[in-house]
Amino acid sequence: MLWDDFINSMWHDRRGSGRSEDRLEQEKWLTWFMRQDRVCAEAFPTEEERNEMRRLRHFLLDTVRHIVSGHEPDAGHIEQLNQWMNAGPVYRRLVMTEEHGPQLQEIPVNANWTQVMAEISASFASTLACGELSRIRICGNPDCLWVYYDDTRNRSKRYCDDKMCGNLMKVRRFRAKKKQETTTDGSETNPSS
Ligand SMILES: [Zn+2]
Repeated sequence: MLWDDFINSMWHDRRGSGRSEDRLEQEKWLTWFMRQDRVCAEAFPTEEERNEMRRLRHFLLDTVRHIVSGHEPDAGHIEQLNQWMNAGPVYRRLVMTEEHGPQLQEIPVNANWTQVMAEISASFASTLACGELSRIRICGNPDCLWVYYDDTRNRSKRYCDDKMCGNLMKVRRFRAKKKQETTTDGSETNPSS
């Protein structure tokens, strides 16, 4: 989805080095993002536009944190989301497609970053409206903080990636347990001395 891809443009090293990268500053990431569906900007964002994007990202992450902590979005969140969406209107059009027959499309009016920010906001709004709030997650690895939508059947996805963050946390728990054991049974100190 557009909204979690966008939030994750703020990247943190899941291995715990403390390193992070703002990928809005990277041409490579922007090029990838500009190929996504509904991202209709034609040129890289200016510094001013990137600042505005950071403002949106901050707001979205704030709302996600609020939801992850077990709350419904409040009136302020809804109002702000509506404001972001208002800035990029769409028009509707019925088009004939070979695969699915007549399809109702919402076509962005503008091809600029203001419109893109409205599209990102709309994708989040659509998840709030049609998805399940309890499936919105932040990775359980505190170094990672990757944001995702848990679409597993039993809502069991605790990490962005079980092979990476899941394993990292398993190893960490194992080490912590081992450390605790050696401190409590005193096996690290020499009893004969
Ligand atoms: Zn993770």
